[in-house]
Amino acid sequence: MLEIGADLLAAVADAAEAAFPDEGCGLLVGSGRRIVRVTEVVTAPNLRRGEASDRFELDPRIRFATERRLRGGDLRIVGHWHSHPDGSARPSASDLAEAWEPDLVWLIVGVTIGFTGQAQAIQILAHRLDRVAGRSHPVPLRLPEKSACNTRGFRG
Ligand SMILES: [Zn+2]
Repeated sequence: MLEIGADLLAAVADAAEAAFPDEGCGLLVGSGRRIVRVTEVVTAPNLRRGEASDRFELDPRIRFATERRLRGGDLRIVGHWHSHPDGSARPSASDLAEAWEPDLVWLIVGVTIGFTGQAQAIQILAHRLDRVAGRSHPVPLRLPEKSACNTRGFRG
């Protein structure tokens, strides 16, 4: 389970659209293990921007700076996000081949040209990637704003 606020999800979608037609990428900061709660989204330069097909490499300086900032606190890097300009939000073969950190959640944004002619994030899915088995597993997304409606008063 990945719990992420609608505002943070919108920030990821905005950054992914801004990077189009390249892949955008960034880090997810948060806490938790079984239920991973994202509290901050960091956008990072993609060092492999402009390369053909599905390639991204987060600027390691952003990663180190984020780790340094979080050191000693309760928050950590829980995952990262990147976008696919072909509109798919599923891990690609190169994503699976480069999934060196099995603990991280992968949030993938599918971006494509919408009917207005502008880049639009059309789907966002979270995954865990198992590089050794060559498989990915879906991670359910939960928007805390939505679960707040799930009280007794709303039950039919
Ligand atoms: Zn990818």
